[in-house]
Amino acid sequence: MKKIVQIITFLGMICVIGFIVRVTVFKDNNKDMNDQLKSTELKQSEPFQCENYDENTFYVDGDWYYSRHAKMYKTVWDTYAETDTAYKSPEEFLNEIDKNVKCISEFLKKPDWEKQYRGNEDREIIITVSTTTGKPRMTGGAYGEAMLELPSYLVNLDLSPLTHEITHLIAPNNKTNNYAYSLKEGLATYMTEMMGYPGAHRLGAPVHSLAKQFLNEEHQALIDVIGLQLPSMDYYFDHMYAFYNLSNSFTKFLIEEYGLEKFMLVYMSDYLVEDYSDTYGKSYEELKQEWIEMLEYEESYEYTFEELHIRYYGITSEGSEK
Ligand SMILES: [Zn+2]
Repeated sequence: MKKIVQIITFLGMICVIGFIVRVTVFKDNNKDMNDQLKSTELKQSEPFQCENYDENTFYVDGDWYYSRHAKMYKTVWDTYAETDTAYKSPEEFLNEIDKNVKCISEFLKKPDWEKQYRGNEDREIIITVSTTTGKPRMTGGAYGEAMLELPSYLVNLDLSPLTHEITHLIAPNNKTNNYAYSLKEGLATYMTEMMGYPGAHRLGAPVHSLAKQFLNEEHQALIDVIGLQLPSMDYYFDHMYAFYNLSNSFTKFLIEEYGLEKFMLVYMSDYLVEDYSDTYGKSYEELKQEWIEMLEYEESYEYTFEELHIRYYGITSEGSEK
């Protein structure tokens, strides 16, 4: 009997030691990940400093909150405020929209961006913010009205859906040919970094380092058409994490190496291979090769989307607690 008790005690000790070892290894892995990500934060581009964005145009009228560029029904804010929001008040939130409109249009050198929507009308474009249980998106613009749908959990985490979606409004890219998403999403994601946000697809990690992990056989079909048109919508939905980071990285490379002006020319073109050579005096393949060679010098960060989410927010990418 004594022996049996000794054996059980011994096995119990092993379990406890095993548990401690596992917890320590897990903590060390997390620490490595944190240190690795932290040490790269300095490698990010400096956020764009725009001028005179901090005027306060907030006011309340009936059941609505307003700022210069946005409006929001009171109950929309109440929904965001049910959990911890990244913004202290509706005033701070709507002023943040105004700041984004001002700074993105300044960065993209499109001070008169509203003209493209209003035709002969003289009305300003007002963004109506609403909640959604789906993905964030911006629609409209014509006749002075744009609609910005933002899910609560992204507002709560300050994951820059504002910058991303407002870039789509200021620099629309509604091609008649399908799947021309790469530069459109590339610019919206690049702007989140320029505005100093972590970005919903990279969560503060340096985008070139994240993109590097996708330079492989599995993503060759995507690399073949990066900056052009996607193989299909199914492909886009199946490879979103790779798609957003590769498009962001390619866009960042083009803008930072060759300037915004040339990039915007291709952006407004039909996304054909020839549009690159006409604009850059180098072929699409040559430019892509330069980008790939640059990525090879970057440190690699092989984190899944889930790992990044949990590391930063302690939640899964669906917004549920972990
Ligand atoms: Zn987008």
